[in-house]
Amino acid sequence: MGVITKGDLILVSGASGFIASHTAKQLLQKGYKVRGTVRSEAKGEYLKDLFKGLGDFEYALVDDITKDGVFDEAVKGVDAVAHLASPFYTEGVKDPQELIGPAVKGTTGILKSIQKNNPDLKRVVITSSVASIMSTDSRPAPNLYTEEDWNQDSIPHVEKNGVKSTGGHSYQASKTLAEKALWKFIEDEKPSWDAAAINPPLVLGEVIHQVDSPEKLNTSVAYLWQWLSGKKSESDLPGPLGNWVDVKDVAEAHIRALEVVEASGQRFITGAGYLLGQAIVDGIHKRFPDAKNVPVGKPGEYEETTSKMNLFNGDKAKKVLGINYKSLEQSTYETGESLFKKFGH
Ligand code: NDP
Repeated sequence: MGVITKGDLILVSGASGFIASHTAKQLLQKGYKVRGTVRSEAKGEYLKDLFKGLGDFEYALVDDITKDGVFDEAVKGVDAVAHLASPFYTEGVKDPQELIGPAVKGTTGILKSIQKNNPDLKRVVITSSVASIMSTDSRPAPNLYTEEDWNQDSIPHVEKNGVKSTGGHSYQASKTLAEKALWKFIEDEKPSWDAAAINPPLVLGEVIHQVDSPEKLNTSVAYLWQWLSGKKSESDLPGPLGNWVDVKDVAEAHIRALEVVEASGQRFITGAGYLLGQAIVDGIHKRFPDAKNVPVGKPGEYEETTSKMNLFNGDKAKKVLGINYKSLEQSTYETGESLFKKFGH
């Protein structure tokens, strides 16, 4: 039990992912050493190259987080773990177990490996989601959600509907079950280390991980790319899309959750507020004046739509972890800049 200090070695699972690559990068920039798990050598080498000159980065191969003992070697000698690897998609889900399996086994698997091979490490942070917090069926919007809330709907939905479950509930059940598995493991095993959970809504922002085509973008950035690349029209506005947060703020929250004593045993919504298509296009027109085929709608008119939406209160992460949320305009700009560089306009 305890917090990390500069020079400590931190294991970041799924380091080749959108959020995890930023988490690894910021850890290095803050003076920590990082071991990232990746599924292939090519992904590991890409990261080595990306982080060149930033500090001490190494990678470990973990090809499938559902395999027993797959983290046994990777956890050896680390001071803390940030567990981010988990599948995130809601379209084309054939069976909820394709998401629930890796989410839950990935979480329990890494915790078991810690207990087996490194029980004296300091702390574990896992990436949960607002998916573990919201109850979309039983609590019609608008609601103000806090860390006290738990998703009451998705597990029963999946139990009742099996392979006919919606993709949304399948993903939400996977995150809810994975986070519950963390807290249950701690209750049952009473390890000497402690833990925290980070619960973001839709994460946007600069893409630094390896992606060679828009079709391969991670789910949350793919949403924003549709707006940036002119695939949306006036009829998609005002476009209530939920809540959002910038990837660099989420990465920072993971690190702060390992650094701050008071984060022990806590979950943190890291949410910067409502996400509206109208606010996205306003940001695009301001920062990319040449943007073509991007609808205009009614600039600045948000209130009527947001008053009917759910809000996830991100104040605790501000107060306890010191997160100072980036604006949507800036985050849209940083996402667009990084994607236009890769894929063109
Ligand atoms: P990415 O898809 O970019 O990252 C997911 C990572 O998990 C990738 O590195 C992926 O490896 C790895 N992974 C998935 N399944 C397996 C598996 N079976 N075995 C080994 N590795 C696996 O998504 P994000 O960065 O967005 O997501 C990271 C975490 O954040 C997830 O836990 C997600 O649920 C959570 N989250 C994300 C939000 C968002 O809006 N982006 C919002 C809330 C929570 P590979 O790249 O090789 O496929």
